[in-house]
Amino acid sequence: MRGLSVSLLLRVGTGCVVTGLAAWAAGQTSENGATAEKTPAPTADTTPADEPAFPKIEISAEAQRIHFSGSLFDGHNDLPWTMRAEANSSFDKVDIAQPTKFHTDIPRLKAGGLKAQFWSVYVPSSSAVTGNATVMTMEQIDIVDEMLRRYPEHFQRTGTAAEVRQAIADGKIASLMGIEGGHSIENQLGLIQRFYDRGVRYMTLTHSKNVDWADSATDEPRHQGLAEFGREVVREMNRVGMLVDISHVSPATMHATLDTTAAPVIFSHSSARAICDHPRNVPDDVLRRIPKNGGVVMVTFVSGFITPTEQLQREPKARGTIFDVCDHIEHVIKVAGIDHVGIGGDYDGVTSLPHGLEDVSKYPAITQILLDRGYNEEQIHKILGGNILRVMEAAEKVAHDLQQKGN
Ligand SMILES: [Zn+2]
Repeated sequence: MRGLSVSLLLRVGTGCVVTGLAAWAAGQTSENGATAEKTPAPTADTTPADEPAFPKIEISAEAQRIHFSGSLFDGHNDLPWTMRAEANSSFDKVDIAQPTKFHTDIPRLKAGGLKAQFWSVYVPSSSAVTGNATVMTMEQIDIVDEMLRRYPEHFQRTGTAAEVRQAIADGKIASLMGIEGGHSIENQLGLIQRFYDRGVRYMTLTHSKNVDWADSATDEPRHQGLAEFGREVVREMNRVGMLVDISHVSPATMHATLDTTAAPVIFSHSSARAICDHPRNVPDDVLRRIPKNGGVVMVTFVSGFITPTEQLQREPKARGTIFDVCDHIEHVIKVAGIDHVGIGGDYDGVTSLPHGLEDVSKYPAITQILLDRGYNEEQIHKILGGNILRVMEAAEKVAHDLQQKGN
């Protein structure tokens, strides 16, 4: 039974939707797959040929109805970077209206019931050293613009919560962008407004390295949180109406941001540190501050951030399962509350994803598991997208008020 998490045992014990899970678990051997984000060459199928397939999760008619009537709004998808790295930034090279070898394509987005997406316009921290972070970020925005131009029947550019709701009502995938790392603004406050004007609605303050004004969770602490310029960045984002994303930052930076911001924050793709003790995850003392701030923790699916600590110690390359991801969702609910949790998959940003969440078609299984665990339609709709839409509205109001005051 090596590799079987506690949650899995409980799930097997209670029967529910999965059949054959015990057989799958018994057949598990040491698993493959890296845990780092933004490693290239993603493939849709990460299951080696000699590994038994993870049991299919049957989606009931009720789960189907709840899932597809909700507003599934994912906080982080790296398709733009994958298009750059794997397709020369060209939708002629890879037409996402057809099945791709990536985690993401339009047929599978439809199957997954995705209604809204923050497309990541990530560029690596190394671009801060080479001096082309801003230019590269603009190029990533160009890729998203081209995608929206090219597939207008599927995607709709949106900038506000009201526009997201309208796009969903029109049957389109509401599309916004998120910058991943403060290096993209090259220490220029004025770029926040310029990026906003191009469709960017959040900025993660750091990626895996510190910036000149904020500490990353995965670098040596330098600022004990936010430098004074970092606080200015947060205030300018509040004024402009760009969500402050504190995924990837150190706990001290999380606290400093919560001390500074006038608007609710987001974690666009982070999970709970109490379950998986990775420095990049959200500790409970931060989770406890989220209700007062009003923000949302969008739980990510990255294997290295969701597999329980004890299991990762035994099997550093374990992929984890969709049940582990649901454990993270439940932990955030337990500590921060049902109004402060969302979904931030990180598809196409990683090589290793949990069993049961291999690509963007798999989201409905989350709804099924939440339903099995006793959550009702209203609660599931909050998790899928209601909470992030509320956060967007609140941040829009803060920006409006600050602009009225001429701040
Ligand atoms: Zn990331």
